[in-house]
Amino acid sequence: MTPIAQVVSCLDGYDPDALHVDKAREAMRACITPITETEALPIRNALGRILAQEIVPGINVPAHDNSAMDGYAVRIADIAQPLTEIGTALAGRPFSGTVGPGQCVRVMTGAVMPAGTDTVVIQEVVKREGHRVIVPPGQKRAQNVRYAGEDLKVGVPVLKSGKLLRPAELGLVASLGIGEVRVMRKLRVAFFSTGDELASIGTALKEGEVYDSNRYTLHGMLARLGVEISDLGVVRDDPAALEAALRKAQAADAIITTGGVSVGEADFIKALMAKMGEVLFWKIAMRPGRPMAFGRVGASWLFGLPGNPVAVMVTFYQFVRDALLHLAGRTDEYAIPLLRATAAENLRKVPGRTEYQRGVLFRDASEWKVRITGQQGSGVLRSMAEANCFIVLEHERGSIAAGEMVSVQLFEGLG
Ligand code: AMP
Ligand code: MG
Repeated sequence: MTPIAQVVSCLDGYDPDALHVDKAREAMRACITPITETEALPIRNALGRILAQEIVPGINVPAHDNSAMDGYAVRIADIAQPLTEIGTALAGRPFSGTVGPGQCVRVMTGAVMPAGTDTVVIQEVVKREGHRVIVPPGQKRAQNVRYAGEDLKVGVPVLKSGKLLRPAELGLVASLGIGEVRVMRKLRVAFFSTGDELASIGTALKEGEVYDSNRYTLHGMLARLGVEISDLGVVRDDPAALEAALRKAQAADAIITTGGVSVGEADFIKALMAKMGEVLFWKIAMRPGRPMAFGRVGASWLFGLPGNPVAVMVTFYQFVRDALLHLAGRTDEYAIPLLRATAAENLRKVPGRTEYQRGVLFRDASEWKVRITGQQGSGVLRSMAEANCFIVLEHERGSIAAGEMVSVQLFEGLG
């Protein structure tokens, strides 16, 4: 494998001591090659998984020309004269005869177009007198007809490998009569927290200790990403314990650690990681989340995140998520969208770094506005819990005045 240092040194403007967030993301992508192993699954179980095959229709959808409305299937050339209704076609119950000159058939939505007809006139506009049907002028040939293959055509690929399977894709695959799909295998991600001050839930806090919260936010974020999780607990700031944890974690495709990468703590970790693989230590031009490690330990990718709880979440969403989805084989658009909203208040910001302030996006009359969630310290997890979005303040920007437009990233989508 090409050394990571060699790959990243080729990137324009790569500066490990003041790395632009976009560069850090680009560097990770440039180094990581997606996994290739796949498995076959019944389509229901494939929800949230990544497609590992192309889907090519073996049938047309719809399979037949059919009516898009409730009404009358007619021959457009005949409609100037009253028509004679000679039968009915329902969805799944075709009319078996052929429609001749001067005739029509009552049709319901989804009914196969009766032989001989070319157009559907909606029921609301016709006049009926017994079996006589009078059609008003102004009808267009082929109106209200859905053609065979209009949705999906035999032989024309419809889903690409690498696409996330959402409810719409499951339905689409089902509409082709396909019951099983090939998907990428799940990624395996191991993580642990480092810190002598960390206590686990279930033990009483001693003086100077804090409960480990990072493993729980990570659990949540990784579970939502649909990966297989391996929680390796709390590891003391001790080289031997850390080495043992990293060795154990190497069974995973990726390892996430929190804590221990800030200045002063980094040295023994640096030495240890260098011994076990190739790891770069970055200072990213961002807030929160400045120090971060990225590299390879054995065959696993390593993401060494800062210890502060908000920094963990920000660096996860801004880098690790992207890197893991790339590693997992996604090829569709998975960047978190940046939306525009009006700042409801002044926001303090220093140019030269990207800031991820925690915000509440809310509706004010017809306008979407955003305000910050109080204290923005990188240890204040409450700022995340109260927020529904990140306010992304771009690298070059300075302070923002109320009324200016800012970018936001929503925490939740359609679900
Ligand atoms: P570090 O990056 O190890 O210097 O940690 C920075 C700050 O984050 C310190 O105040 C730590 O106590 C805190 N911290 C580190 N790891 C965790 C964790 N797993 N849960 C909660 N706080 C943590
Ligand atoms: Mg620490």
